Amino acid sequence: MKARQKPKPLIITEADRVFWNGIAQRKLLITRCRSCGQTSHPRVMCSCNDPQLEWQEAAGSGCVYTFIVYHRVYHPAFSGETPYNVAWVQLNEGPLLLTNIIGCGNNDIRIGMPVRIVYVEEANGAVLPKFEPV
Ligand SMILES: [Zn+2]
Repeated sequence: MKARQKPKPLIITEADRVFWNGIAQRKLLITRCRSCGQTSHPRVMCSCNDPQLEWQEAAGSGCVYTFIVYHRVYHPAFSGETPYNVAWVQLNEGPLLLTNIIGCGNNDIRIGMPVRIVYVEEANGAVLPKFEPV
């Protein structure tokens, strides 16, 4: 039986396409609202309902906002990787990004821990933004 591949990132909106094309080029892109100035993970409209968003490159630094360690396999492609973590990292520019913390053990991850981005190319060809301790 062929091993299951991990799912690739979903491209649903034009904002998703721009974000993931940026990641493939090792650029972390976020959006800034032209009306209220709020930065966000790419979306089609600001929470103030203004659709006038502009792209900017984030520095790729932030801190662990929260995280969880999974011990159960929810997708067969991850069967050899438990336990693994899933974390929300808050970028220094403000937006939260769902990711994994690499470069340290799951027991060493702390909320508030400073981290920086690492671009990881998966076996399926997808480049994913992950973070490591600074
Ligand atoms: Zn806004």
